[in-house]
Amino acid sequence: MINHSGVPSPFQSFLNDLHFKYKSLHDGAVANYIPELAKVDPNLFSICVITVDGQVYEVGDYNQLFTIQSISKVFVHGLALKDHGRDYVLTKVGVEPTGDAFNAIILDERSNRPLNPMVNAGAIATTSLIKGSRPTERLNRMLNMFQRYIGRDIFVDISVFMSERTTGHRNRAMAHLMLNFGMIDEKIDEALDLYFQQCSLMVNCRDLALMAATLANKGTNPITGEQAVESCYIKDILSMMYTCGMYNFAGEWAYKIGLPAKSGVCGGIIAVVRNQIGIGVFSPLLDSLGDSVRGVKVCEELSQQFGLHLFDSSMGSCRFLDMLST
Ligand code: GLU
Repeated sequence: MINHSGVPSPFQSFLNDLHFKYKSLHDGAVANYIPELAKVDPNLFSICVITVDGQVYEVGDYNQLFTIQSISKVFVHGLALKDHGRDYVLTKVGVEPTGDAFNAIILDERSNRPLNPMVNAGAIATTSLIKGSRPTERLNRMLNMFQRYIGRDIFVDISVFMSERTTGHRNRAMAHLMLNFGMIDEKIDEALDLYFQQCSLMVNCRDLALMAATLANKGTNPITGEQAVESCYIKDILSMMYTCGMYNFAGEWAYKIGLPAKSGVCGGIIAVVRNQIGIGVFSPLLDSLGDSVRGVKVCEELSQQFGLHLFDSSMGSCRFLDMLST
């Protein structure tokens, strides 16, 4: 954000410096399980922060489009909650973090439910809950939901979708296992297609920040004023992000950074500071757990610098949002 005299605000300068600092960090590797992701430019890097009153701070390649991948799981969980309510969704997918890989073919032994909505099995289960009489109706309902979060039209990248679809054997195996236990209905190919489509939606870093800011703003998009998700489900969504959102780094993330967050193999991370800001970071170089290397560093530094950790009491009653406007 630049003021009238063309001088960046103090927070914008802070973001510019953060971007400059980590631009030279080249650790990690881009996802390569499908050729479309392996082709991405590893140097891409952007940070965007949007406040609940609609101020936008951004730096780097923030208009660059990429596929949303696992970050979509957060929002589809929200739609499943809207469609069926909390109690029913809980019969189909649990809320326990898992130390297993996000794509493990595992269900909870006692309940036969997938462990949580942030791992693939759980996400396929929540996707299968989206209401609609035909696949196109379900896809359109999902697209409309995402459009409310980002305030513009959203599209599926067809080549990523086709690649996900032809190589997604583990995801198919999970769907069959869940069908075996009656956790999803028989239209598993339709549910899988919708899951592959949601992973293949094109977003940019600003969209990520706006989605996070919408969650921070009780479900209302701070720029368009449109309600994207019912406020009563925000606590369900944020608690899943907090405990399960960062692959097998979720515990360390909660300890060090202390914010509800979700990452995806695209290199995106969203993080939510409730009632204050949404953070989006995009950099496709991933660590061995699947989280963006620069993304984790940026969020760690923002959290430490501004006392954003949920349980940080060092800043007293000082709100980050109030500091921004001074
Ligand atoms: N499309 C990926 C999959 O289903 C999502 C990976 C991710 O971002 O975690 O395996």
